[in-house]
Amino acid sequence: ESQAILRELERELDDYGLKENVRVVKTGCLGFCQHGPVVMVHPGEIFYCQVKPEDVKELVQTHLIDGKLVERMLYQEDLTGRRIPSINDIHFFKAQERVVLQNCGVINPEDIEEYIARDGYFALADVILNKQPGEIIDIISKSGLRGRGGAGFPTGKKWEMTAAQDVTPKYVVCNADEGDPGAFMDRSILEGDPHSVLEAMAIAACCIGANQGYIYVRAEYPVAVERLEIAIKQARETGLLGKGLFGTSFDFDIELRLGAGAFVCGEETALLHSIMGARGEPRPRPPYPAQEGVWGKPTLINNVETYANIPIILRRGWEWYQGYGTATTKGTKVFSLAGKINNTGLIEVPMGTSLRTIIFDIGGGIPGGRKFKAVQTGGPSGGCIPEKFLDRPIDYESLKEIGSIMGSGGMIVMSEDNCMVDLARFYLEFTQDESCGRCTPCRVGTKRLLEILKRITEGQGEMEDLDILERLSLDIRDASLCGLGQTAPNPVLSTLSYFKDEYIAHVRNKA
Ligand code: SF4
Repeated sequence: ESQAILRELERELDDYGLKENVRVVKTGCLGFCQHGPVVMVHPGEIFYCQVKPEDVKELVQTHLIDGKLVERMLYQEDLTGRRIPSINDIHFFKAQERVVLQNCGVINPEDIEEYIARDGYFALADVILNKQPGEIIDIISKSGLRGRGGAGFPTGKKWEMTAAQDVTPKYVVCNADEGDPGAFMDRSILEGDPHSVLEAMAIAACCIGANQGYIYVRAEYPVAVERLEIAIKQARETGLLGKGLFGTSFDFDIELRLGAGAFVCGEETALLHSIMGARGEPRPRPPYPAQEGVWGKPTLINNVETYANIPIILRRGWEWYQGYGTATTKGTKVFSLAGKINNTGLIEVPMGTSLRTIIFDIGGGIPGGRKFKAVQTGGPSGGCIPEKFLDRPIDYESLKEIGSIMGSGGMIVMSEDNCMVDLARFYLEFTQDESCGRCTPCRVGTKRLLEILKRITEGQGEMEDLDILERLSLDIRDASLCGLGQTAPNPVLSTLSYFKDEYIAHVRNKA
């Protein structure tokens, strides 16, 4: 529909002879998905949402020709005055802190000039021309940035470990294999601001001594793939990728590798195997990718959001970045909001923001006046968090303490009419299906877990099944080879811990 609106706008402006005076810019996503497609008019950041192609005539006539604003019903709490808010008046945006997403929905991601106009590639120039690799790694370490792919490993430490290897060649890899159902943080960054990732990878390459990078991106993200291809081509043409960057002897280029949709390929060692054309199976660590990665050589692997933080940290300084977040987790985090929530979409908030702020303030609460029951953070293998923890500031540690994980940032909200046992079964079906089968605890254990959950939800469960569920979950968690198996029991363990009464009701009522 956005494409149809774009065509309509261009046609309408052409009819009025306004094409020379009014620029139509196609951007990435602003994150206000529930109320899209959106059109923003500058100057003034006048914001129209839920636009349809047939609205375009009125919008152009009234806004641009007559100079009046179109009265349009907007987002709930802004509706009452029947006025047109600017984007800054909308609560969904007001409560956010857009650092990583600063260019998404603002610039044309298919035009490198627009990225450069917002200080893009300045950090890379500074790194190559004026700084020593050690200085940059030190800044990244001091910023407190931790891997946004889920594990939260300190990014500076990872860079330092890879830089310290004396084996060459080395490689830089971007993990863009975002496979969590309901999560689209990386996709949105790649579609809305692909150059931020390319710039960060070039900076990383300069710091660790690599000349080749790979972006492993899901083939199911065709727009992200297309925009990356355009961005790489434009960066090469502008001399920002390829031979002799900024007139120095530093060469760096990037190739895309398309993933075929296996969830396990988001695990870094499986992803590295897949880049080399091998079966996407995890392997034990050590050796870590920093020691032996692509083609057996030292490899730095970070995810999309982690890389997207790098240029802005270098431009604004680690002290500025440290200003966001908690004692253990600095910066901001992009979350995707899905499930029973009014404002499904993509948001960015400082680490340490409470779940209540995210779900009720920014997310607009639960539709239809229903009661909140739980939120699952961290994708299909995250835990379900009940209401009593809504006011906890969230970071890697606090989520772990309450039986969940940050993961890459998916958040699925459940209301009072969701059955938590059905939900645990749903997620187990997903992880069981995606298990690569390499190790027994995950391959067999998740299958047995799922059988028990099916028994319970189909009215065949016994009380002793609840103990078996718990014991088996703990065994799978402790004995599985990779993160997929280690976290797969989280939905079961957390629902058993916080919603055991629902399991008991299934068993007692045999339904
Ligand atoms: Fe494969 Fe599961 Fe073992 Fe990971 S834990 S290696 S996904 S079988």
